[in-house]
Amino acid sequence: MAMGEGGDLNRKMQEVRSMTDAKGFSADQERIWEMLALIHSEISEATDAYKKGQPEEAVGEELADALIRILHLFSVLGLDPEALYKTKMEKNWERPYRYNTTRGG
Ligand SMILES: [Mg+2]
Repeated sequence: MAMGEGGDLNRKMQEVRSMTDAKGFSADQERIWEMLALIHSEISEATDAYKKGQPEEAVGEELADALIRILHLFSVLGLDPEALYKTKMEKNWERPYRYNTTRGG
């Protein structure tokens, strides 16, 4: 299957890319460092919203921002998020309880 075909994640990635292109956000490979930093920023915003006791929907909105930014980056990198998700979930199911970490996570 070619990159970006089939699956909900790939459809959502294409939807995100259509929106970001239409809104004038660059998909330049030179921006990958910036995109990675902005994914962090959305997680920080979710952390801050949770810390401040904001409604769960406010936390969720920031997590949705992170998802959108992640899907945008998948598209810029030319990756197949659906296939990568499936493969990684299969790997994770094969791992031991709490992945043999001391404190879980
Ligand atoms: Mg945000």
